[in-house]
Amino acid sequence: MPHVAAASSGMRVRGGSARLQSRGIMGAVRTCIGCRASGSRSSLLRVIASHGAVVADQSATLPGRGAWLHPTSTCFDSAVKRRAFTRALKVDSALDTGALLSVLAEYEAGHQPMSPNEQAD
Ligand SMILES: [Zn+2]
Repeated sequence: MPHVAAASSGMRVRGGSARLQSRGIMGAVRTCIGCRASGSRSSLLRVIASHGAVVADQSATLPGRGAWLHPTSTCFDSAVKRRAFTRALKVDSALDTGALLSVLAEYEAGHQPMSPNEQAD
């Protein structure tokens, strides 16, 4: 009787666990209309056009076409210079940005409502 030695069946199956985690981008990434850099919703301020003025939508819940801006005077200035507000918000006439400016001043003074860094004494 031929003795069949099946000793050399050394086929190792390597666990192919190189799965790419292609979840995509979690959460919405927005582009600042001032500096054109992208950022998360929490780092950008949503603005909308309302009655001829740019209005800060800090809760990002107001209806209508919105645009996103870093709450800094630098990005604001850039957006104004390139008329990004009227373009992004799809309006024909110039928008009053006075109200937005005062909101930005609050941000720059460190009073942004989304900051968790309030020190409880
Ligand atoms: Zn920006």
